[in-house]
Amino acid sequence: MALLSVENLTVAFPGRRGSVNAIEDVSLSISPGEILGMVGESGAGKSMTGAAIIGLIEPPGRIVKGGILLEGQRIDTLRPEEMRRIRGRRIGAIFQDPLTSLNPVLTVGEQLIETIQTHLRLSKAEARERAIDWLRRVGIPAPEARIDTYPHQYSGGMRQRVVIALALCAEPRLVIADEPTTALDVSVQAQIIALLRKLARETGVAVILVTHDMGVIAETADRVAVMYAGRIVEVGPVAEVLTAPRHPYTRGLMASIPRIGARPDVLPQIEGAMPRPDARPGGCAFAPRCPHRMDICGHTRPDLNGGATLSVACHLTEEVPA
Ligand code: SF4
Ligand code: MG
Repeated sequence: MALLSVENLTVAFPGRRGSVNAIEDVSLSISPGEILGMVGESGAGKSMTGAAIIGLIEPPGRIVKGGILLEGQRIDTLRPEEMRRIRGRRIGAIFQDPLTSLNPVLTVGEQLIETIQTHLRLSKAEARERAIDWLRRVGIPAPEARIDTYPHQYSGGMRQRVVIALALCAEPRLVIADEPTTALDVSVQAQIIALLRKLARETGVAVILVTHDMGVIAETADRVAVMYAGRIVEVGPVAEVLTAPRHPYTRGLMASIPRIGARPDVLPQIEGAMPRPDARPGGCAFAPRCPHRMDICGHTRPDLNGGATLSVACHLTEEVPA
């Protein structure tokens, strides 16, 4: 059974001329220990998908269609306090800016110990031991001493290591990491990515890694889902998608992002810009920018079709080998 499965998820916001879908019919699943990358330009819906999974869609946005199952349990319909329990205990989160995830007036140790004691039945002394152990595992030097210091006494990279410890210390089954390295220096980014990968292997936690950076995906993920204009347009094993991208948008992404640290918010290889959610064309949303568009693309939206492992939403590739 999939650890998490998202089915036809659609999130809408009220717009000036009616409801606007931020993401549409997003379906994905992830297995224990797997790292699923979600990649695409800013505004493609990657963060929105992550926020929906952890129950943090800002009202008036709401899920209007589809569902989210964690270990077979429907979680998108839970009450806020039930969802709060799941967040932290079964789903952890790592965001771009470590400062927003850490409380500046509490020591790193106080934050770790509180999280551990909230979710696991451990004494204060046991929780402190566990906290020190986590600081060691994420590569904080001299954790016995550093545990009693404050977040501002850490460098950006060390703070993000603390955030990772905080996300994992309650032993969640799934972690949503949204641009976890974007705010960091390039040299530090690679270390944090390597750390995430190592911890996923060691603990069996599944990771949904949201990033605009194909380089980060290449280094970290097992599978990748490419998002464009609120939909998944291609999903498959990283090695396959990177070496033989099938969707014209994925091909453009690949051409523009060869390494970690690039900022491909614009894609020089693809003319034009991604349409805003309230201005998406009928048919394929990528058609205005697509060098391969055909008549059908202007009026018929391509479904995500494919075999057991790889799927593509493009009229060019209706027949994808399984
Ligand atoms: Fe291009 Fe048509 Fe495929 Fe869309 S469906 S990506 S317009 S070929
Ligand atoms: Mg984002």
